[in-house]
Amino acid sequence: MVTLLIATSNTGKVAEISHELATAGLGDLAVKCLRDFPAMAPILEDQPGFVGNAMKKAFGYASAAGLPAIADDSGLCVDALNGAPGVLSARYAGEPCDDAANNRRLVRELQALPHAGRRAQFVCAAALALPRANLAVMVDSVEGIIIDEPRGTNGFGYDPHFYIPELGCTMAELTLAEKAVISHRGKAVRKLMAWLKENRVAFESLANGKSVNMS
Ligand code: IMP
Repeated sequence: MVTLLIATSNTGKVAEISHELATAGLGDLAVKCLRDFPAMAPILEDQPGFVGNAMKKAFGYASAAGLPAIADDSGLCVDALNGAPGVLSARYAGEPCDDAANNRRLVRELQALPHAGRRAQFVCAAALALPRANLAVMVDSVEGIIIDEPRGTNGFGYDPHFYIPELGCTMAELTLAEKAVISHRGKAVRKLMAWLKENRVAFESLANGKSVNMS
């Protein structure tokens, strides 16, 4: 039996990635997250883009834990802010990370802009690695508009301010399963799960230390 490390301690991300594993029919994989490794040093997210950070985290945590790992790097990119906060989304209002402070800063920065100028995307890169090799990375995004007043209590981070015009609600007004269908993370992780299912035999052999040819 292979144990997969979901390499984050963000409980919102753990819930969303676990949901994708279960719906992909991979619920039989044993799963751990970073909270199971409290002594593990954090991997520095110092790459300029989501893909580089996701691969660095997946590989770094897989190597440190000696387990295959899935990691995501994600964030909010606002057109009017030239793509900010982007890879700095978690720390937009400074350290330590504080969702409420990040949202206050976001709303303040966009105060003067009408709705038409508040287009934004959530972007997610999801990566899978073994202790000695990166295996795959997938990227996806979802479009929305940033609103001043928070709506909804589900999700995490910027969800209450991320309004999806087609659905007439914010990300925080969706259930976990509803968010998974349309979200950046849901779509990127589903692509990664499809890759994993296609390469499951080789993946498990490699995870168990055997050498194989992978497509
Ligand atoms: P990371 O740990 O560097 O990937 O940080 C991602 C940050 O981007 C989070 O702390 C949130 O601030 C924001 N973010 C990413 N995905 C979401 C989402 O699904 N909902 C709300 N905020 C998100």
